[in-house]
Amino acid sequence: MRYHIWTIGCQMNEADSRRLAAALEQLGYEPAARAEDADVIVLNTCVVRQQAEDKVYGRLSSLRPLKARRPDTVIGLMGCLVGRRNSEHLRERFPWVDVFAPPSDPTPLLDHLAERGLAEMGRALRAEDAARRIPGPFLLSCQAQGSQVTAYVPAVLGCSHACTYCIIPYRRGPERSRPADETLAEARALVAQGVKEITLLGQIVDRYGYDLPRQENRTPLVGLLEQLHEIEGLERIRFLTSHPSWMTDELLEAAARLPKVCEHLEVPVQAGDDEILARMRRGYTADDYRRLIARARAIVPGVSIATDIIVGFPGETEAQFQRTYDLLTELRLDKAHIARYSPRPQTLAARRYPDDVPPEEKERRRKVLDELQARIAGEINARLVGQTVEVLVEGKKKNRWWGRTRTDKLVFFEDARDLLGQQVPVRITWAGPWSLIGETGSR
Ligand code: SAH
Repeated sequence: MRYHIWTIGCQMNEADSRRLAAALEQLGYEPAARAEDADVIVLNTCVVRQQAEDKVYGRLSSLRPLKARRPDTVIGLMGCLVGRRNSEHLRERFPWVDVFAPPSDPTPLLDHLAERGLAEMGRALRAEDAARRIPGPFLLSCQAQGSQVTAYVPAVLGCSHACTYCIIPYRRGPERSRPADETLAEARALVAQGVKEITLLGQIVDRYGYDLPRQENRTPLVGLLEQLHEIEGLERIRFLTSHPSWMTDELLEAAARLPKVCEHLEVPVQAGDDEILARMRRGYTADDYRRLIARARAIVPGVSIATDIIVGFPGETEAQFQRTYDLLTELRLDKAHIARYSPRPQTLAARRYPDDVPPEEKERRRKVLDELQARIAGEINARLVGQTVEVLVEGKKKNRWWGRTRTDKLVFFEDARDLLGQQVPVRITWAGPWSLIGETGSR
């Protein structure tokens, strides 16, 4: 029996797919590289923009003839296309899908396999309480054991912030933190299987623990980082995504103080204009963001910062777009993911504001910012040439090892030794906006 999981979207989806793969392997399934060769095919989906949703529909359509040919194949649809509510409309639209599972919860899939007698261990798994929400013993798939160097660990599920453009709260449900012991148990299990770097995940990861019993006047995420830090064998810790309003000094100080916590923040600004930010309901101004970046740079020496931007939000004028351009020019961040606004069902923006920036104009704005950011990132990275950086080696592609610096920069280098999972000093010889090339002095 073989399984195939197709994943698109955010890191949370990657984490969910990793857990599902492990759960399926516990049932005796083996991985198949191609959907055509699998008995169970799962699509783990994203709907954050129309483009992602369309890719899912494309993939779904391509499975229809396969299902017609081999009706015994189990086809599962998981993630944000399904959401946490009733999936009747999807059942009608995609009758060749056998089972629907919400984000971060493969239980319906596992139950379905058990019901069809396709899972000998199904009952044992279901008996585990933790498996109700997230599968139990936190194993890596066989393929990944010993070869997977980095792993995502969900800390906060869902989101309650309700930015007006964002569909995530409607599909992933309200914000809820995982208990610390469960989160730590998962991290420990991953490290025991060879993982060296853990990234804690949440839509607003800095809000971790505010809904759990806690000590007053402390940022609960700091407590979790401190406990993670104790795990022997774990070498690096990251957390994402941050929200500008929730990055306390205490959190920044922890990032500076705890050696395993990397000097890298992912903190989306989304726009540089206050009126747009207000209509997005982000809850801060461009000046608040400027102050945050200044604080982060003062408290965490050498910090690298990534941001997200949406261009062409409803009503965005040329002058308002220019303020985003100016902000990026001024702040010189290390990375920016630029997305064209895509109206999403149920969101306040889609219901209230006409999508009035034409597609060509959105694309023009996206390109302008992309080019600006490429120039900035190229200049920032060029300063690394000649320097030696610590790279955690994650894999090998075409004779070259690749890995990341603590500041999340991708580095390629050649070296004949087996360096997988090791931290290696690499002298940078070439730098581009998206990656670096270096050498170890040993070939
Ligand atoms: N919770 C995180 C990530 C949300 S989704 C946050 O605080 O931002 C990842 C990115 O997708 C967002 O940062 C945003 O830039 C983009 N995005 C979300 N909804 C979008 C939409 N409707 N159209 C275009 N981009 C969107």
